[in-house]
This record gives sequence, structure tokens and C-alpha cells, in this order.
Amino acid sequence: MPTFVRTDKCDGCKGQDKTACMYICPHDLMKLDKDGSETGHAMKAWNQEPEQCWECYSCVKICPQQAIECRHYADVVPLGGSVQPLRGTDSIMWTIKFRNGNIKRFKFPIRTTPEGSIKPYDGKPNADVSKIDEIEFYSANSIHKTDRSQLVSG
Ligand code: SF4
Ligand code: SF4
Repeated sequence: MPTFVRTDKCDGCKGQDKTACMYICPHDLMKLDKDGSETGHAMKAWNQEPEQCWECYSCVKICPQQAIECRHYADVVPLGGSVQPLRGTDSIMWTIKFRNGNIKRFKFPIRTTPEGSIKPYDGKPNADVSKIDEIEFYSANSIHKTDRSQLVSG
């Protein structure tokens, strides 16, 4: 089920050209209505194609104002309930609101190293494109040289 923006909470990421939700959405669905001409809500973001939403929760997690919520399937989160994350640098605090008013919170770690410290290519040799046709590398040419029975086919 798609996300929606709480206009009472969204501050348009303070007028930046690319808001946090626009930056993170893998499907390019979030948009900022700068002058209100598209939604009637100036400086508020919205999900411009809800039917295309992957429900990946990326925008919900990144929004600094906790202004984005997800409409859940009724069997998971019945109407009136909500599941809202608050992202920290090393964990996410989830707030689960039940429709009878009960609230539960739990903290879930999201990383084992300090934010910004990962060097994914550290210690790895630079790629040598001139070797692309050598037998260890996958290419149309190298398939002929390798044992084709070892390739996974669909
Ligand atoms: S990330 Fe949140 S506050 Fe920023 S524009 Fe999107 S909905 Fe609004
Ligand atoms: S839930 Fe994912 S796909 Fe849907 S609007 Fe947010 S970031 Fe985009």
C-alpha cells in the first residue's frame, strides 16, 4: 500500500531543490509542490503515483519530520493503527500504534560500523578492463572458453 505525506508535518525539507524523499525514492515518485499549483499545498511533498509505490519504506525512514506514512494492508495494520520509524545513525526506533490507543516501541540496530566509515573497495585491486576477455571474467567471449555446464541457465 502506498505512502502518503502528512501535510501538517512536512516542511518541504526547508525549500531545498531535492528533498530527502525525492532523493531516496527508487521509483522517483516523491515530488515537492513548491508553489502549491499541483496539490494546493505549497512547499509540501506528495507521492505523485501511489499505484507505482513499492512500499519500500525508504521515504518513510529518511523523512526528517516523520511526515510520511504508509497505508498498510488491513490484515497487518488495521485502520487506525500505524507503524512509524525514527531513524538514528545506528538504529531505527519503531513506534507501533494500535487502534485501541496502545503504543509500543522497539529499537532495531541497522549497522555494525559507524556511519560513513565503510570503505567498500579498501584493499581491493583496481579493475583492469584490458583483462575483461580473460577466462576468469564473464563475457560473451569467455563463455566459449569456460565450461558452459557450470553456467546457471533459466
Ligand atoms: S522528506 Fe519529509 S519533510 Fe522533506 S519534503 Fe519529503 S515529506 Fe516533506
Ligand atoms: S515507499 Fe519507496 S517507492 Fe514508495 S514513495 Fe516511498 S521511497 Fe518511493
